Amino acid sequence: MSSAKDVLRPLVISGPSGVGKSTLLQRLFAQYPDKFGFSVSHTTRPPRPGETEGKQYYFVSRDKFQELLKQGAFIEHAEFSGNFYATSFNAVREVSQAGRRCILDIEAQGVRQIKQTNLDPVYLFISPPTLAALRARLQTRGTETEASTSKRLATALKEIEYAKEGAHNVVIVNDDLERACDLLKRVALGEEIASDTLPPLDD
Ligand code: ADP
Ligand code: 5GP
Repeated sequence: MSSAKDVLRPLVISGPSGVGKSTLLQRLFAQYPDKFGFSVSHTTRPPRPGETEGKQYYFVSRDKFQELLKQGAFIEHAEFSGNFYATSFNAVREVSQAGRRCILDIEAQGVRQIKQTNLDPVYLFISPPTLAALRARLQTRGTETEASTSKRLATALKEIEYAKEGAHNVVIVNDDLERACDLLKRVALGEEIASDTLPPLDD
């Protein structure tokens, strides 16, 4: 459950790679250009076609990432599928200072670390309807090699295990995109919604 006062708290979105987090967020930001702010993470992975510096990510070398890590620039960081990702204090601060609700898109290791901080966000898990659907989405996105698709699917199982532990406040199953968009919009606006039931995801 989330509630109206939650609109002041950051919103941490997680879920397996390929489940549709970026798609959902893109739609939310298009619909509400002034209400929310994306916490732009640092990553050592190369940009995908259409991604631009400072919008989806700050794309940095491994050396630069390590330097920032040593300087204490990050609230949390993780290695995911052979690349490093991190949320900087600056990224979250910039959004809050703009008076917007901060939305983070991070994986499970990052969620665990955020839970040790005083950020106190709402944790939202985006679930696929089935593992077969997840696999198909990762493949149709066309951004991964066969090897990296397998790696991301293996990691997806860990993300799902963590969700099964009840790590999140709200679950949205991204089956029908319109429905998932509507639920995300409501959570982001601080409305109280009933969480979806996590599917078995054992196919
Ligand atoms: P993530 O950011 O979670 O890694 P993306 O937003 O890149 O995932 O989505 C992965 C692929 O799945 C994209 O090709 C996207 O168009 C597609 N997709 C997203 N939501 C749905 C949905 N509800 N049904 C079918 N395909 C979807
Ligand atoms: P992608 O390479 O598909 O953009 O992201 C891979 C994974 O990294 C996704 O699960 C995404 O949520 C996660 N991620 C993106 N930014 C961060 C971050 O700053 N910290 C952590 N821990 N994970 C991140």
